[in-house]
Amino acid sequence: MQYCEMSKEELLKLKEELDETYKEAQSKGLSLNMSRGKPSATQLNITMDMLDTINSSSDMKSEDGTDCRNYGVLDGIPEAKKLMADIMGTTPEHVIIYGNASLNIMYDQVSRAYTHGLLGNTPWCKLDKVKFLCPVPGYDRHFAITEHFGIEMINIPMSENGPDMDMIEKYVNNDESVKGIWCVPKYSNPQGYTYSDETVKRFAALKPAAKDFRIFWDNAYVIHHLYEDKQDEILDIISECEKAGNPDMVFEFASTSKVSFPGSGMAALASSEANVADIKKQLTIQTIGHDKINQLRHVRYFKNLEGVKAHMMKHAAQMRPKFEATLKVLKEELTGLGIGTWSEPRGGYFISFDAMEGCAKAIVAKCKDAGVVLTNAGATFPYGKDPKDSNIRIAPSFPTPEEMELASDIFVLCVKIVSIEKILETK
Ligand code: PMP
Repeated sequence: MQYCEMSKEELLKLKEELDETYKEAQSKGLSLNMSRGKPSATQLNITMDMLDTINSSSDMKSEDGTDCRNYGVLDGIPEAKKLMADIMGTTPEHVIIYGNASLNIMYDQVSRAYTHGLLGNTPWCKLDKVKFLCPVPGYDRHFAITEHFGIEMINIPMSENGPDMDMIEKYVNNDESVKGIWCVPKYSNPQGYTYSDETVKRFAALKPAAKDFRIFWDNAYVIHHLYEDKQDEILDIISECEKAGNPDMVFEFASTSKVSFPGSGMAALASSEANVADIKKQLTIQTIGHDKINQLRHVRYFKNLEGVKAHMMKHAAQMRPKFEATLKVLKEELTGLGIGTWSEPRGGYFISFDAMEGCAKAIVAKCKDAGVVLTNAGATFPYGKDPKDSNIRIAPSFPTPEEMELASDIFVLCVKIVSIEKILETK
């Protein structure tokens, strides 16, 4: 029976029982963390042998003869560009390889646009107003970058097919101060949704009022499937934009943070040849070149896209039981109660949970008091403000499957108690 259909007396009785269970859970002194999307240590162990691919007796030349130990090669060695291009579904001439973190590239792109402008356009810092569209729920670190530059952020609701394209077209095609949009197009953070072909094509066909409008296409989870047989596909935004006559409209980002090592991966940007040339002109002032030994290490280890895909299935084997343990508890404990809905991703790093309106903060706080740390409620929205106080991001990657089950038990218990308290306010 749905909680909202229960009488006040029934709810009070149920709450008494749940409060008792909660007290018992609290007394266990648990310390579980499902807050950030970090691979577990055992997952990192999968890639340890990558460190053996290069040692003091290795040939340190890239395929074009570059000595990778030395200065130079601003945009990456050819074989690394090819590998990252294949991962993103584009071609090497669109790619620049950076250091270890794609977030750093995203920051750089906003920063560059802000101080110097894109392809000769007015730097954003000289404009009265700069706005970004933010599909929500989304990734807190994206929102932190635009907030840091004083850019106004506008919420765009997400659906299983991607963000609300009607709304996006209205803003982008009519408002010159809208300069960008944050997208996680595949296995989105936190819902795990993948943009449909229609969504991608509508993105490519935008007719921006601002000449320097850019789609920030963060393809962080492009190859991060959970299953061998159930995998999402996505169109290549770069060629779609070319076909639609908008070649310069997109910056795509990806990294091997959750393929090899988050602390020591390889990150890349992909964009039109004009954008790549524009970026390289400024990049040459920033650096003489990124870590080419790391690039070599990655290419020698993975060899090609097939090698990367096979490696990702080893990650999936570790991630899947954690997702399944969490989803099992959610399904068994909450189905039919009318107090929450959740996503069931086929890839990525997160499960998104929507509680009854006005309950997310209280649920997160109650979990914390029982030793279960979740991402702060509100973090999935610009300025940390979820207008409905409803969304909670669950990150199952770090704990063991057993810990995830335990943490999920506490989570559903807190969801039930807080929801009853909310419903009782109206009875
Ligand atoms: N983008 C998204 C959507 C992410 O979820 C994350 C990591 N949580 C990142 C980027 C960070 O990527 P990187 O390690 O390459 O900076």
